[in-house]
Amino acid sequence: MKQLILIMALCSAYTSFAQPTWQQRVDTKIDVTLDDKGHYLHAYEEFTYTNNSPDTLHFLYVHLWPNAYKNDHTPFERQQAVNGSSTFYYSKPADKGFIDSLQFTVDGLNAEANSSENAPDITRIELQHPLLPGKQIKVATPFRVKVPIVFSRMGHTGQAYYISQWFPKPAVYDQKGWHPISYLDQGEFFSEYGSYDVSITLPANYVVMASGNLLDEKENKWLDDLAAKPLPDAKYKFQKQYARDTFPPSATEMKTLHYHEDNIHDFAWFADKRWLVRKDTVVSPGNNQLVTTWTAFMASYTQSWKHSTDYLKETVKHYGKWVGPYQYKTIKAVLGDMHAGGGMEYPTVTIIDKSANSQLRTTIVHEAGHNWFYGMLGSNERDHAWMDEGINTFYEQKTSKELDTSHKGTSIGFDETAIYYEKVATHQDQAIDQTSANFEKLNYGLDVYYKTAGMLRWLEQYMGKEDFEKGMHDYYDTWHFHHPYPEDFRTCMQRNTSKPIGWFFDNILTTDKRIDFTILKARTNAGNTDVTVRNNTGVTAPLRIAAYQKDSMVGESAWSSPFDHTTTLTLPGTDWHTLWVDDVIPDGKSTNNEYRRNALFHHFGVKIKPIVGLNMSDKDKLFISPAVGYNQYDGIMPGLVFHDLTIPENRFRFALAPLYSIPTQSLVGTGSVGYLWYPDNVFKEIMLQADGKTFHDNNQVNNGSKNLYPGYSKVAPSLSFTFNEHDPLSPVKRTLMLKGYLINENIIDPGPDPFIIPPVLRNHQNIYGLIRYTHKNTRTYNPFDYKVEGQMGTDFAKVTAESNIRIDYNKKHKSLYIRAFVGKFFPINSDPAVYGRYELNASYSGLDDYLYDGTYLGRNAQNNIAAQQVSMQEGGFKVPVFNNADQSDSWMGTINLKTDLPITRLLPIRLFFDAGLVPNNNPSFTHSGTSTFIYDGGVEVHIIKDVVSIYIPVIMSNDFDNYLTGAYGHKNVFARSISFTMDFQNINWLKAPSKVLKMVSN
Ligand SMILES: [Zn+2]
Repeated sequence: MKQLILIMALCSAYTSFAQPTWQQRVDTKIDVTLDDKGHYLHAYEEFTYTNNSPDTLHFLYVHLWPNAYKNDHTPFERQQAVNGSSTFYYSKPADKGFIDSLQFTVDGLNAEANSSENAPDITRIELQHPLLPGKQIKVATPFRVKVPIVFSRMGHTGQAYYISQWFPKPAVYDQKGWHPISYLDQGEFFSEYGSYDVSITLPANYVVMASGNLLDEKENKWLDDLAAKPLPDAKYKFQKQYARDTFPPSATEMKTLHYHEDNIHDFAWFADKRWLVRKDTVVSPGNNQLVTTWTAFMASYTQSWKHSTDYLKETVKHYGKWVGPYQYKTIKAVLGDMHAGGGMEYPTVTIIDKSANSQLRTTIVHEAGHNWFYGMLGSNERDHAWMDEGINTFYEQKTSKELDTSHKGTSIGFDETAIYYEKVATHQDQAIDQTSANFEKLNYGLDVYYKTAGMLRWLEQYMGKEDFEKGMHDYYDTWHFHHPYPEDFRTCMQRNTSKPIGWFFDNILTTDKRIDFTILKARTNAGNTDVTVRNNTGVTAPLRIAAYQKDSMVGESAWSSPFDHTTTLTLPGTDWHTLWVDDVIPDGKSTNNEYRRNALFHHFGVKIKPIVGLNMSDKDKLFISPAVGYNQYDGIMPGLVFHDLTIPENRFRFALAPLYSIPTQSLVGTGSVGYLWYPDNVFKEIMLQADGKTFHDNNQVNNGSKNLYPGYSKVAPSLSFTFNEHDPLSPVKRTLMLKGYLINENIIDPGPDPFIIPPVLRNHQNIYGLIRYTHKNTRTYNPFDYKVEGQMGTDFAKVTAESNIRIDYNKKHKSLYIRAFVGKFFPINSDPAVYGRYELNASYSGLDDYLYDGTYLGRNAQNNIAAQQVSMQEGGFKVPVFNNADQSDSWMGTINLKTDLPITRLLPIRLFFDAGLVPNNNPSFTHSGTSTFIYDGGVEVHIIKDVVSIYIPVIMSNDFDNYLTGAYGHKNVFARSISFTMDFQNINWLKAPSKVLKMVSN
């Protein structure tokens, strides 16, 4: 009796770990006809819905995913805008898509179906009779799909058709309730298992690759014949000849193809008249099933695709061995267009985008591998994307490693690892286990795919390869053809190891912190080594330490238990030269991973490297690069740049550029030093920085015995606070900056009479303070920013506000740019000769830059080209004027307009117009009155948008005209009114690596 009770207890324990007690079933039948002139699908669908749940259902949620492409008000388009893509928004109505002509019946009776405005791709079918547990209903509807061009997954390119997410399909109903999900580009799917019976009618010369088994003898024979044809010569000449892969006309004769498959949760099909076909077979490990591999591609891709069936075979073999047997009779890959990644998986068939050509094997292995993690293990991809993408990437990388015979260790390059380490170093990473739409675009790829794969390698090594594989087989055996959740995966892995793996599920999947360990000390102890290690970020996890003898591995390594602060582990043996945090630990800070036995500093080391590079080795890096500078007074300045700006970024950063000024025979240069904190509270980031520079800035004067070189030197410490937006998708950045300026100016004092007393250099010291609040919203449409600033010196105070908005026309890259500025000046010193230089400027040049923040070719130039450099500060006017001509000691208000033109982007031309009110108390401007209305307008030629531009005024108010006539003569007015900008003052070089990274990864 006792025994019996024990067996019963074991059984119940087992069932609580096993599959859920129920799962819904949907069996689908569709007849579809392709209209390849209008790009429509005309179809009729019938699905049998079996309610295996214990609940009575009163409605069904059904997905109408083609409606994602219907208009600008779909969740798909909203996500496109968040992710910075405006392609769909600006697309022609004729290129968009939709599903219509729906008339749902349930068991033959008309049924009401309603969608919400915000989500036209989900409908709710009301059931006239409640669907009782254990009962079935038959839902039917005709439907028509307008196939869009390829914006995401489903679409057509000419007469090539990529038909996926295309038919009305019930949402999953499970133990957690209904899962209606809108179609998204970033975020995948979740569907019920069942059988599919699909008939496709289309012109007879299309090659079709679809989910499941093709049942038509004649068509199978035709495909066999195509597959048996020799491949064309794949040499360069051939590629060129077929580069355009033109479509042959469609046959007038139509054909109908029948497909069937069981135990799948989706059905996709792809049709192209140009495809070449390859066929092969592979025996699936585990069940010895013969699997037919098919690939289809355009002739011009023969070179890269000629071995494509091999990649499918390798996938079946490796995944079959490591995870579980392939359960279907076919596996296929086709070449086409796909804009939501390099490829997309569907049951038994996968589409590979043309852009994946250079990594074709990896991409095919990945997409075909989804037949396991997605196809057979049907997890909720939308909410736990790592379960399909992350685990699949782990096996894709494992397969690639096996296939790559030339593989020589891990070479560190600028890849996903470097970008992930950069993200985590700058606190911009996100936790793995969360719903797809929550991820910042780049993080989705990094965290869900690469970080998960890296973390799983850690788990695999920790559990031991054998136990890990047993766990994975258990997961497959228990859950294939079902809907596993993370807790189910955890249960399967945990019951195959004696080690605790809660750290992986509770901490690694939920943290956005960096993994970072340091070896504190190592002491020999009776033939062993006690190694004390510290967990720098407190993410509870286990650590492996490896011992190295000179350059070769000794072979000794040891794991710690999961820990969060410090721990000591015992390594067998004492004969080692260095100890390392093992490579399998995804340690985001590599410079503290080594412990040298006989070194003075056990950790510290610096490597000197040329130019720039990555910061992913055992030592800190110092980069040295040749540099050259130029300004009118120092001439061409050769020099060097020393910096530690790298990826991943350091918290302590510096860039120093000592330069040699040949004409003045002196050392000049510029540099910045900074340190960052990431408090992750009200402030996301705090940066303490000091900038310094010293250059010459005016023409030399000879005092009889030697040349005097006027110049300046500046030191400017600052503290910037970046506010925490708490939402990784937020386009807003708010900063508060406090900055001090210590400026030393060496100015020529000509003296009352240079013949009696020679001119001398006089030293002026100025101290200023600045406070600036900036709000920047970089949303995709109509982005804007504003800033409010206060400046103060001993002789003046100034308060200014500036705002910019870009108003987008209804055409890509065409906008109206509005800038507005208001400023108020408060003289403190009573002498206008002293405070005059600080007044508000309508047009801003090097002469006005008393803070020395800008970069000017000729800081005090009033003649030649350098004098025509202006900068978009204060009034923002373009006509360069000097001698306090456009200044105000009271207030100023201006508006600056620019517009793109309806012309090609190759002509970098915009129109500009500036207008403003400037109280006129200055005799250089001839109008009298309390305030003067001034304006200028003309053509801008932009070389680097918003940084380097040339402005050619066509109109200007009399004040400008009179000034230029008076200063340069009537015939020079036009030439002297032209200006250019080189607005580099907004670049903080210490933040350059992350800016560059943002640019290259978008
Ligand atoms: Zn994938």
